[in-house]
Amino acid sequence: MTGCVPKKIMWYTADMADNLRKAAAYDSLKSSCPLRTSEKNLINDKVDYHEGYASFLSKNEIQIERPDGSKYTVTAKKFIIAVGGRPTIPSDKEIPGASYGINSDGFFDIEEQPKRVAVVGAGYIAVELAGVFHSLGTETHLMIRYDKVLRTFDPMLQDVLGEHMEKTGLKVHQKTHVQKVEKTANGLLVYTDSSEQPVEVDVLLWAVGRHANTEKLGLDKAGVKINEKNGDVIADAYQNTNVENIYSIGDVSGKVLLTPVAIAAGRRLSNRLFGPPEYKDDKLSYEDIPSVVFSHPTIGSIGLTEPEAVAKYGKDDLKIYKTSFRAMSCAMLDEDHKSPTSYKLVCVGKEEKVVGLHLIGDGSDEMLQGFGVAIKMGATKADFDNCVAIHPTSSEELVTLR
Ligand code: NDP
Repeated sequence: MTGCVPKKIMWYTADMADNLRKAAAYDSLKSSCPLRTSEKNLINDKVDYHEGYASFLSKNEIQIERPDGSKYTVTAKKFIIAVGGRPTIPSDKEIPGASYGINSDGFFDIEEQPKRVAVVGAGYIAVELAGVFHSLGTETHLMIRYDKVLRTFDPMLQDVLGEHMEKTGLKVHQKTHVQKVEKTANGLLVYTDSSEQPVEVDVLLWAVGRHANTEKLGLDKAGVKINEKNGDVIADAYQNTNVENIYSIGDVSGKVLLTPVAIAAGRRLSNRLFGPPEYKDDKLSYEDIPSVVFSHPTIGSIGLTEPEAVAKYGKDDLKIYKTSFRAMSCAMLDEDHKSPTSYKLVCVGKEEKVVGLHLIGDGSDEMLQGFGVAIKMGATKADFDNCVAIHPTSSEELVTLR
């Protein structure tokens, strides 16, 4: 046999050998301290850096409480609220023993790999961390309230990932609510409403969402409005709050909680406030933001899901292209080790403008960025088809969809 395909299989074999050599380096990873790195960058950029807990005293004055308890005030013409959010954990009153569990911050403090873990939640963090534990060999229970993970994503992604989790032995407990947690000499007993017997684990991890860090910010003293339900700072498309010269960016505004979104919004805002006149209306478009879930295998998604597109454009105006296959990297593996690949393209109108792209399969994380550029530029199905396939890859399937 000669040609591209056997060559690619030999390439996978060589790549695997390279990865095995790299594996040793992962054993000796030392913990890094990103905060200190950011601190250094701020100092290098000659930013006047204050360390402490800030809260508003008025709309142009904040108080900073230093770690040693001393306090001082800072006045400024403009303030940007970018304090982010933190994981939500049920109280012990809501679920007795809930506080025996950790959150995604606690995940990074675990010093030894637990043998048994229960992860509660169905979003990005639950899926990603359950996947990490499971792939490293921990007995992993994922407890979800409904019957699918990632319910805000396209149904194809929910189904393919859910089935693969089950197939690989990650135990997904559907329609399950934790009722009570007890600590014993052997670990934690997690009682649920879906089985008589509690699930016994070493670590319980809550990943049921995050909320804005606004409680102690003194926003009332500055007159800044928040969403009374969830504490998010209310900001318009230009990141303006209701108070002139006070702006808000990132998770604290509760809109698309992704680091690059906050960075992009911050850049636009600084362009608008301090840049040359051509940037006076600069703002971030919150449409078509690509995002990736680092599940096993990875997921990439941009634009409308199929149900969202149906709701927006109606079924008759849509054309959905789908494919499911086994990537070549698993062609030679037995069924137990094969992972799925499924892609979906959501197109609208006669010109078949691509309004949604949903990927699951190895490499989807790296694939999405380039396709995201095309979709942001208004690509149609014909534009996809006009791009010559790169062979043999998984992504070539996206430019040859029928
Ligand atoms: P998410 O909001 O993504 O998911 C939390 C999920 O937990 C909900 O969707 C809900 O799903 C479920 N849930 C909510 N309340 C309960 C409850 N009481 N009991 C059981 N399940 C519950 O939050 P995450 O904490 O996963 O992540 C926070 C944010 O961080 C995300 O919005 C994401 O933007 C960002 N993030 C992004 C990553 C990336 O880009 N790769 C990685 C990690 C985080 P359901 O309604 O189906 O029960």
